[in-house]
Amino acid sequence: MGFQDAVLTGLAPDGGLLIPDRIPQVADRLDAWAGMSYQDITFELLKLFVDIPGDDLRKLVERSYITFRHPEIAPAYPHGPVHILELFYGPTLAFKDIALQFLSNFFEYTLARKERHLNVLGATSGDTGSAAIHGVRGREHINIFIMHPHNRVAPLQEKQMTAVLDSNVFNMAVEGTFDDCQHIMKSIFSDVDFKTRYSLGAVNSVNWARVLVQIVYYFSSGLYVMGQTGSKTVQFAVPTGNFGDVLAGYYAYRMGLPISRLILATNENDILARFFNTGEYSLGRVVPTLSPSMDIQVASNFERYLFYRLGEDPEALMALMRQFAETGALRLPLENGEIVDPLFAAGTGSRQDTLEIIGRYHRDYAYTMDPHTAVGVHVAEQHLDDASPTICLATAHPAKFSEAIKEATGQEAHHEILDGLAHAPTRCEVLPNDEAAVREFLRQHAICS
Ligand SMILES: *Cc1c(COP(=O)(O)O)cnc(C)c1O
Repeated sequence: MGFQDAVLTGLAPDGGLLIPDRIPQVADRLDAWAGMSYQDITFELLKLFVDIPGDDLRKLVERSYITFRHPEIAPAYPHGPVHILELFYGPTLAFKDIALQFLSNFFEYTLARKERHLNVLGATSGDTGSAAIHGVRGREHINIFIMHPHNRVAPLQEKQMTAVLDSNVFNMAVEGTFDDCQHIMKSIFSDVDFKTRYSLGAVNSVNWARVLVQIVYYFSSGLYVMGQTGSKTVQFAVPTGNFGDVLAGYYAYRMGLPISRLILATNENDILARFFNTGEYSLGRVVPTLSPSMDIQVASNFERYLFYRLGEDPEALMALMRQFAETGALRLPLENGEIVDPLFAAGTGSRQDTLEIIGRYHRDYAYTMDPHTAVGVHVAEQHLDDASPTICLATAHPAKFSEAIKEATGQEAHHEILDGLAHAPTRCEVLPNDEAAVREFLRQHAICS
């Protein structure tokens, strides 16, 4: 499948995930990349995967990062014993913007060339929905319909979605839970006639383009920090839920970036940390934490990593995934004393750990970080390495989680974009928890070719 079709489709026709047919090797170009801007590294990396003319790709990359509020796009500077890679300068102040700004530009480009239209349908408990809405707002060939559970999303996150007034953006507040929204979405997507008639598409976290675009900041920050410190390798600490962000780091390693270790950090929802420490991947119950964007038990991108870990054997992968679907657990066959993967270290940050890190970095280093980032920094501190500087991914601006910051530091965190939302006008349709009502709303507002 070509790259454009892979991105428009999202999932493979048999329900599996798409991966690149080969992983390009770039170790011999790293010296050249080390001096480049973020946009130039993005262009050089994407052109190894993407099947569109170079000039067009360059324009798409430039356009995607114009919306960012930092000239370096994703700066990485030392704070205390670690370097912090700030990924929150996009319009919704979370790292998902980095991929979704590009994905939306890419959609618009491909749709315009194919003279097609797309109606994006999604369900969100917060972050992904708002990053997707801000990605496609104002586009000519795309309408976006995002369901959220009525009165059950954090007020700030709800406002980040409903205060977008562009005519191609439709927020639907469903009178039910997030699970109800997801259930309605899956049911509508499984109706192939309806899906085709209304050109429905998704922007979910398993879309290959999202993982691909995230590989870039491992290179940009890794090369920068190695240049600054004179070290030959770096390690990354990544707070994760869906295994999306850390998977991008795994690809960067496979492409030839000298990464000594990937430090995977989860909150109390620790299925991934347990896997890397024991070889068993087993469902627990989702518990609410201070880092809600990682309150996930089934990590939708994990299957991609498992494919490589199983020696790229699709039969073995299928057998394990079937075992997981049937029993809620899978176990990696390990020899006596064998560990899951020497590239990975994994650990968990509790509520207590999160508050301790936010408070201590605020006090000792005058640096305020959000709770997701703090989970990563907590686990990173247990794996510091004199020979290999540690880069911690900062996935959201602290002002998005002001209550946790207040609890940890006694002070509030602010950002002008978020403060400005307090009195912003909003547009949102409240719908009953009923698939028929959602379908009717889509029929009325879908954009048609
Ligand atoms: C989505 C999200 C994460 C987790 O990302 P994964 O792709 O699941 O690794 C972490 N932090 C924030 C703020 C997020 O929005």
